[in-house]
Amino acid sequence: MTTPIAEGSSTVAANHVLVLNSGSSSVKYQLLDMSDRSRLAVGLVERIGEETSRLVHTPLAGSDAESRERIGPIADHEAALKAAAEELAADGLGLDSPALAAIGHRVVHGGLRFTEPVVIDDEVLKEIERLVPVAPLHNPANIVGIRTAQALRPDLPQVAVFDTAFHTTMPEYAARYAIDVETADAHRIRRYGFHGTSHAYVSRKAAELLGRTPEEVNVIVLHLGNGASASAVAGGRCVETSMGLTPLEGLVMGTRSGDIDPAVTFHLKRVAGMSTDEIDVLLNKKSGLVGLCGDNDMREIRRRIDEGDERAALAFDIYVHRLKKYIGAYSAVLGRVDAVVFTAGVGENSAPVREAAIAGLEEFGLAVDADLNAARSGAPRLISPDHARVAVAVVPTDEELEIAVQTFALIGQAHN
Ligand code: ADP
Repeated sequence: MTTPIAEGSSTVAANHVLVLNSGSSSVKYQLLDMSDRSRLAVGLVERIGEETSRLVHTPLAGSDAESRERIGPIADHEAALKAAAEELAADGLGLDSPALAAIGHRVVHGGLRFTEPVVIDDEVLKEIERLVPVAPLHNPANIVGIRTAQALRPDLPQVAVFDTAFHTTMPEYAARYAIDVETADAHRIRRYGFHGTSHAYVSRKAAELLGRTPEEVNVIVLHLGNGASASAVAGGRCVETSMGLTPLEGLVMGTRSGDIDPAVTFHLKRVAGMSTDEIDVLLNKKSGLVGLCGDNDMREIRRRIDEGDERAALAFDIYVHRLKKYIGAYSAVLGRVDAVVFTAGVGENSAPVREAAIAGLEEFGLAVDADLNAARSGAPRLISPDHARVAVAVVPTDEELEIAVQTFALIGQAHN
């Protein structure tokens, strides 16, 4: 789709989409040209509100992709976005550019209402606000990002792309916790799932890699970043995912525990005398790999294992054991599996994690070829041997591209 915009006597195609990912103290942004899906610039503002805020901007359109850095106080999200806009303007790609067609926002929680991306209006923004109680850490920052972008370009379509949307197809029996129904419904307690944009993109790319349509394949996606989640995708629709009401449930993560007996929290309160906030911090920030061995970077953990460090080795084994349990469980949920797909920082880069997670699963038709697994590449690729019944693949995720594609498609529809 191309939306022509008159500029003087000539016409400029509005093909650019700015993707914004606003966190509590950071804003990540990317400007993409949707005519060829190329990146024109990427940037990050971090430590917003501190004295040592940092902006790193990398223009990618020209031949020299030299990053520019600014260090100094950036008071709030509005200042952060303005600073990012200045950097873009210095490359001739400011927010006033006639080529800019829309801004796509990553919004973490869309509840049950938002099953698709939406053009943001007052009513949509109110609904995102209504979801703050179930996403207190994420939605407020997303809302600030949206309001700031709206203030800077009130005339421009702004689109919300939700992390939860892909998982809204989960059947009720997978989404509900087995707790009192009235209590659950009164407080909107259910399993929502997150990383949906990545699971959607990667499961589609995996089908492409297999030379099939998404409708024809069943895949298990393992998104292993600092946060980590698994999903079971049947014929292009998510039927199960490992994160729940919040991104705390499921796999062992960099700093989050993933699955634990919920009674651990009562125990910590009653016996260890911890407050609710302290338990929250313990499970979200001081658990997972960092809690187990003091490191959450898989490279560092592997280095320590090579030096004979037993705590690092145990942390690795716990991480992999949980992964294996989910691969087994989701194989049972799907009945037939065509591919197990690894993605995100750990999934794309850690051959030892992939090897260990698949080891011993030959009865499931799963195996990894050592050479293919060890080969480094940024492209989607198979790492299973030719004869394997189930494909094992590595598919780099690209959440920003997916947000831009969905944003551009939506405003295209709105224009037609
Ligand atoms: P997020 O988006 O959740 O912050 P990423 O998907 O960028 O995370 O993943 C970050 C993690 O990926 C790091 O904490 C590290 O454990 C892992 N990682 C990155 N590069 C490598 C590598 N070359 N080998 C092993 N692990 C890696």
